[in-house]
Amino acid sequence: MTSEDLKILHPMKEVVESYGIKINRSGFCMCPFHHDNKSASMKIYKDNFHCFGCGADGDIFTFVMLMDNLTFKEAFKSLGGCYTHSFSEMREIEKIKRKRAKTAELRTDLKFRITLCQKLIDIYRMQTLKYPPFSDEWCLHMNALQYQIAELEYLTDMR
Ligand SMILES: [Zn+2]
Repeated sequence: MTSEDLKILHPMKEVVESYGIKINRSGFCMCPFHHDNKSASMKIYKDNFHCFGCGADGDIFTFVMLMDNLTFKEAFKSLGGCYTHSFSEMREIEKIKRKRAKTAELRTDLKFRITLCQKLIDIYRMQTLKYPPFSDEWCLHMNALQYQIAELEYLTDMR
C-alpha cells in the first residue's frame, strides 16, 4: 500500500468523520486545531483539508499525525500502510492503537494543545522557507504561523 493508495482508500472526509467531527453539506466542519470553534472554518476537500481560521492545512496523513500525535510513519501504518502483518508489525500496530486511544483522552489537555501548537509552528516555519517571500503560498503559511504563535501565547497564559 502506497500513500497514494491509502488516500484513495480513505477519503479525507472519512478520516475526519472517524474522529467524530461532523462535516456540513457545504463541506465545512469545526477545526480541531484552533480554539475558536464557534464557526465551521475548516473546508474538507477530496484529498486535503484547509482551515480558513488558523491556516491548518494538509492531507489525511497530516490530519492523523496532528490529531493522534503520531509520526508520519506511525500515521501511515495506522491508516493501513502495510499489508504484510508480521508478528512484530502487529505489535507495532497495537502500540499505535494504544497511543491513539491515550491521545484521544489528552486532546483537551492544555499541555497537549501546547505541544500541538509547537508542532504546527515548526511545520509552518519550514513551509515558509520553501516559498519565495510574499508569494501566495508564503503568505498562507506565514498567516498560519502567526496564528499559531498567538495561539501558543494564549495557551501559555492559561497555564
Ligand atoms: Zn483552524
